[in-house]
Amino acid sequence: MEILKGKTYFDKENIKKQYPYLNNDVKCDVLIIGGGIDGAIVNYYLSKKYKTILVDKGRFGLGNTVAATALLEYQLDDFAEDLKPYLSEKEIEKIYKLGQKSIKEIEKIDKKYKANFDFKLKPSLIYTDSKKDVEDFEKEYKFRKKCGLKCKFITSQNNPFSFDLEAGLFCEDGGAEFNPYLFTHVLLNKSKGFKFENTEVVSIENNGQELVCLTSYGYKMFCNKVVCATGFNDNLLSKKPLSEKFVSYTIVTNPIKNLVWEGDALIQDYMSPYHYLRKLPDGRVIFGGEDTLYKGIIKNEDAK
Ligand SMILES: Cc1cc2nc3c(=O)[nH]c(=O)nc-3n(C[C@H](O)[C@H](O)[C@H](O)COP(=O)(O)OP(=O)(O)OC[C@H]3O[C@@H](n4cnc5c(N)ncnc54)[C@H](O)[C@@H]3O)c2cc1C
Repeated sequence: MEILKGKTYFDKENIKKQYPYLNNDVKCDVLIIGGGIDGAIVNYYLSKKYKTILVDKGRFGLGNTVAATALLEYQLDDFAEDLKPYLSEKEIEKIYKLGQKSIKEIEKIDKKYKANFDFKLKPSLIYTDSKKDVEDFEKEYKFRKKCGLKCKFITSQNNPFSFDLEAGLFCEDGGAEFNPYLFTHVLLNKSKGFKFENTEVVSIENNGQELVCLTSYGYKMFCNKVVCATGFNDNLLSKKPLSEKFVSYTIVTNPIKNLVWEGDALIQDYMSPYHYLRKLPDGRVIFGGEDTLYKGIIKNEDAK
């Protein structure tokens, strides 16, 4: 299925390096299918210890990865209260803290390689302009405080932003921003393992001793483990769709002069569907969200 429509922003400085395609049978410990940000991260860590092969049916990083708005936040799409029917408070706290830890891990990679992928730590704001949500925000604020997370409760009385809000949570160490396409390529450059572009996997079979993955050109890859990092393409794992498909939008403005807001925070609203935005290093603003159930073909006019 077609995943992306329209022009993307983060590959404006196109990576010239092209990786070869697979043209013989190969063997490895772990095969990673899909070279977006997830496949690149998995390969970066696993190739330190195992013989890995990373393949992508197209070019690395040009799937969802290049289309993301790339706000990195520890907070989730749902508040803790919405998760409590499924998870304990301890588990939710752990998820928030793992989110913070992974942002720190990306910061470490940024410092280690000094490769510029526009990484910056940023505060985050989630807000509502509806009085009926204020109680939800109070509960979430109390939960985050209990977990020891730095967080400020904002109301219309102490709102430092130039737009109206009824309640908001401003988190000093809420997140970060980066260029996900460049980050993916830094990980690819700095990792071991064999990497092949334009190499589509069409099937995964278990022959009783090992897994055999067949490419569209008929070559075989033999391995002990397979990591399927194919994004929304789940047809290698199951003939039946494993998830519902949504359409999501990313819009990038022209550069805007002298645009400043509190902490240059990553901003998210509390609507359904929700929206989020942040500034880009060249003064543009990138907006995302408005996720709506996919009902058929996306027209080009919708994808500008
Ligand atoms: C509009 C939008 C905005 C987003 N904003 C954010 C955000 O602000 N913050 C955030 O954290 N996340 C955001 N996301 C989510 C984030 O982009 C994704 O979670 C992330 O990019 C997924 O990366 P991935 O590597 O799993 O998938 P992809 O980048 O899609 O990579 C999958 C790769 O698998 C390859 N592939 C597929 N099938 C095969 C096959 N059979 N054989 C070989 N290769 C195959 C594809 O070619 C592709 O390159 C956003 C997503 C979208 C769409």
